[in-house]
Amino acid sequence: MFIRPKKSLGQNFLIDRTVLELIVDTVEIANKEVLEIGPGSGNLTTYILKKNPKKVYTIEKDDELALLLEDKFNNEITIINDDILKISEDKISSEKLTVFGNLPYNISTEILSKWITNLDKKIWFESLVLMFQKEVAERIIAEPNTSKYGRLSILSNWKLNIKKIIDIKPQSFSPRPKIDSTLLLFTPKEKIFKIKNAKNLEMITRVFFSQRRKMLKKPFNQVFNNAKEVAEKFSIDLNLRPQNLEPEIYFKLVKEYENLRC
Ligand code: SAH
Repeated sequence: MFIRPKKSLGQNFLIDRTVLELIVDTVEIANKEVLEIGPGSGNLTTYILKKNPKKVYTIEKDDELALLLEDKFNNEITIINDDILKISEDKISSEKLTVFGNLPYNISTEILSKWITNLDKKIWFESLVLMFQKEVAERIIAEPNTSKYGRLSILSNWKLNIKKIIDIKPQSFSPRPKIDSTLLLFTPKEKIFKIKNAKNLEMITRVFFSQRRKMLKKPFNQVFNNAKEVAEKFSIDLNLRPQNLEPEIYFKLVKEYENLRC
């Protein structure tokens, strides 16, 4: 069956066998439950099934593709014809899931933020293997003191270990995207820094990094009434810039903010 890719749903199908194999080899899935988001025409799904998972759930927003998948895989997989952004993923299974996703780029970032900030309830996945546009992946894995380091790096670092798997060229997709992609692997951290409300981490990193070239004095005074005291408590030099502070320091600042406010 001929599929006309829908631009609005970010449909760039993976056609490179080497890459498809590499993706499913990122983590061990034999006898595990797998969730694939945005399976499209099922290219990656086929490779997932070859690895003998216990069960495969897929979430596909496109009605036409969902029907095609029903046809192609019959009862081999469970197809949820819905929008990943609207689903309670922690209700899909009682087992921890291994998640694969070659999703539209904007959705990968949105879903990652949603999952990080939602994780208070329960950690419902064992690992996430997700595709990003290369530039965004670089921001996620960026180390302090680099120009790419910022909100995304700090937020991701809060709950997840992150590993870069590989850069993927446009030729591996059909139709070809205009930019390079990067595959990242995320696993939940064993010890997660306790923050009462993820919104406070989002707020503080927003205030700090919206003026990333300014000295820390400015955002510190915006967030804390007793800025000098707080800076001293954590031995922070207020003449530094936001990118010079480790993620851990941001978590501590959020905790301090929460203690002062609540
Ligand atoms: N994983 C496949 C397809 C990638 S294209 C492959 O690698 O070949 C991205 C897929 O995500 C498309 O099938 C698109 O319909 C689906 N998609 C886009 N937005 C979605 C959403 N919000 N929820 C679920 N699926 C979505």
